Formats: sequence, C-alpha cells, structure tokens
Amino acid sequence: MNYEPVIGLEIHVELKTKSGMFCGCPADHFGKTPNTGTCPVCLGLPGALPIPNKKAVEWTIMLGLALGSTVSEVSKFDRKHYFYPDLPKGYQISQYDQPLCRGGKIETSQGTVRIHRVHLEEDTGKLQHAMVDGKKVTLVDFNRSGVPLVEIVTEADIHSADQAKEFLKKLHQIVRYLGISDADMEKGSMRLEPNISIRKVGETALPPYKVEVKNINSFRFAAMAIEYEIKRHATILESGSIPAQETRGWDEAKNATVSQRSKEEAADYRYFPEPDIPPLRFTRGYIEGIRQSMPLLPDERKQKIVKEFGLNEQQATVLIDDERKLNLFESTVLSNAVVSAGISGATVANWIINKVADYGVATTQQVAADIVESQKITVIDESELQNVLATVISSNDKAVADYKKGKQQSLMFLMGQVKRQIPKGNTQQILDALKAALDTQ
Ligand code: MN
Repeated sequence: MNYEPVIGLEIHVELKTKSGMFCGCPADHFGKTPNTGTCPVCLGLPGALPIPNKKAVEWTIMLGLALGSTVSEVSKFDRKHYFYPDLPKGYQISQYDQPLCRGGKIETSQGTVRIHRVHLEEDTGKLQHAMVDGKKVTLVDFNRSGVPLVEIVTEADIHSADQAKEFLKKLHQIVRYLGISDADMEKGSMRLEPNISIRKVGETALPPYKVEVKNINSFRFAAMAIEYEIKRHATILESGSIPAQETRGWDEAKNATVSQRSKEEAADYRYFPEPDIPPLRFTRGYIEGIRQSMPLLPDERKQKIVKEFGLNEQQATVLIDDERKLNLFESTVLSNAVVSAGISGATVANWIINKVADYGVATTQQVAADIVESQKITVIDESELQNVLATVISSNDKAVADYKKGKQQSLMFLMGQVKRQIPKGNTQQILDALKAALDTQ
C-alpha cells in the first residue's frame, strides 16, 4: 500500500534578550551554576507579578513579519497548566487563542509550507536525573525557566523528511539573520517537534491520529525520526490498526523513537487568561516601525549577491548558508584591494567557499590580500627565465630529444620543470621562450 506522510512542525526558539520573559533575571542561562539566575517572579513565589519583556514581544513580531504572518492588533497571555516540576508555578505563561502572529509561509523546493501561528511564552526549567547519597533523585535547575521562548507552528503541509529538513534549515537561517536567537541546536536554543501521521495516497482528509516527537536537537535527527515514524505507522496500518495518539521521544542511541506518554488535548491544559498581564495592543505604526527596522532576509541577500556580483545560484546558496561567510564575501568583494585589481565576484566567491577554513577568524583584509596575490601573474625577468630554461634543457636530455622527434608530451614535461622553479610566471611567456630555446638546440 502506498502512503503519504502528513507532517506539521512545532519549533521552539529561545530569544537572546538580556533579561527574562517576565522578570529581570539573565536570559543567558547556558553553563551557569544551577539556580543562580532566579528571582521570586520566575520561581513563582506568592505575590510576585510578571511584566512582559518588550524586546521579546518586538522580536516575535519581527519574526512573524519575516514569515509573512499577520500581526494581531490585540494579543494576550494565558496560563497553560500541567503537572511537571520544571515550572514552579504549576503552569506556563503562554498564548492560547490570541497569539502575536497568525499565518505566513516558507517556500520549499517541494511546495509551500504554511505557518499556522507564532506565539510567545516562557521556557521551563531543566530536570536532571542523578544519584545523590546512593539514592536516585531528580534535581531541578530553574535558570532556564522564564527565558523568552517563541513557538512557531506550521500547518500539516509537509510530506517528506527532506521537506521538513529544508523548511527547518530555512527557518533557522531566518531566525539567525534577524539576530533574535543563536538558534544553537546543540545548546537547545532551537528545539524541533514534528507531528507525524500518514494516509493512503489520494486521501485528502487529515488522518484520525498524530504522533508528536518531542525536543529533537538536530535537523538530521528530525529527518530520521520522521522516517522512522512513517515506517512504524505503515506497519501498524497494514495490520489493520491505527497508531496510538501519543508523544514520543527520539533515542539517539537506538536510532528509534520511544513512547513517552499519551498526547494531551488542549482541554487538559485548562487554559485561562493570565490575570496578572493585561492584553497587549499594538498600533499599525508600531508594527510598521518594526518592519522598517528589519534586516534583509537570507533570500533577499541571496538575490542581491546574484544580481550585483554575477554569482551563480550554487555559489550564492553556499554563501548565505552561514551569515559570517556571506558577510566576509560582501566585505571582501567590495574591498579596495579586490576592486582595484579588477577581480570578479565569482573569483572571490570561489576563494571564500574553497579556501577559507574558519569564517569566524578570517579578516577581510587578509582574505582580500590572499585573493589578489593568487591572481597575480608575474612577468619574469628575461635573463632569469633564460637561466632557468638553460638549466632545465641541459638536465633533461631525453625529454629534449623526444620533443625534437615530435613528442608534445615532452614539451609539457619540460614546461612543468620550468614552472616548478617559477610558479607565478606567465604561462604563455614561458611557453614561448621554452619553444624558442628548444628550437635553437
Ligand atoms: Mn510551547
């Protein structure tokens, strides 16, 4: 039986604001001593009141604008309740029915993926399962709880693991170019959750179940988890059953997904409006101001370098992959050294793609100097050239004799011997002089 995967994605992105979502604690929690970046607000102590982080709201709107979403003129926060000790309040401040942004899309080579919504919430603390005094215990670090977290939810428009990967890479790039998050997958500042189901080819209704795979930390694992689930669902459907609606996790050691719990319905969360934060209202002017302050997006910068510097699609794709690489290209191609030497954009692009090892370390000045040097053709001093030719001819009798008999290969061999001694020499100049010298032998 042929099946078509139906996949939606939920992506959580930690914003790199200075302070927390609702308090003044540092948002940068990575590698800090546990529970040092906390206060009564993010610990949910009685009487503490949350105050929304203006920058986090602005950046979420900016991301929505970059995705082509409609920004809500009125938005609000809600409490999402669940029983798990990673948030001390017993609920997460999130957004339910009035998210900051709705709609939008990202184009992939396999079709448009529509965005359902973009909302803002707070991150949770981290649990650590450990042994203390010979006892199995769970330790809680609240440094991460209350860090601004954007959630992006797509429609179920994705139909393959490859398409999911392409979408995720594009989203990752957009977030990085906007400068609103490190989106570092290894540190968990971007976390991926595919919702997967499959249906018979030709069916158009959404399947009667879906499986969510939680907190995946790489594009590759996301693709592997999707492939794994597609096969698993097909086997269950073939046996006449329907896969269980549940939340699963990706087990890196087993290269498999494992069941975690049955999936909650929205009603289980007992959402209600956060009474301590009044609704947010935005004027058109405020939203336009954010749009004006937006940097160019990856696709726009790609078109720009293709048009302005005559790059091909492939070069441009490689360069925009990492903004540091792109910035290095732009600064080098416009540097005085490169411009005055008349070196083409394509040459600079190839050099940066193939010869620069570390984009974080390389400086424009050094890279420009290297490229100019590589393009230099030295006109060699005639007497120096004659000396080298004489040496090469006198020490390669056989090749000279072979050349005299009409063996072209020998000419190339002799040419190679000369070039070894004067590598930067103008090839045509050397070849002409070599032929002339051989003819007088
Ligand atoms: Mn969430």
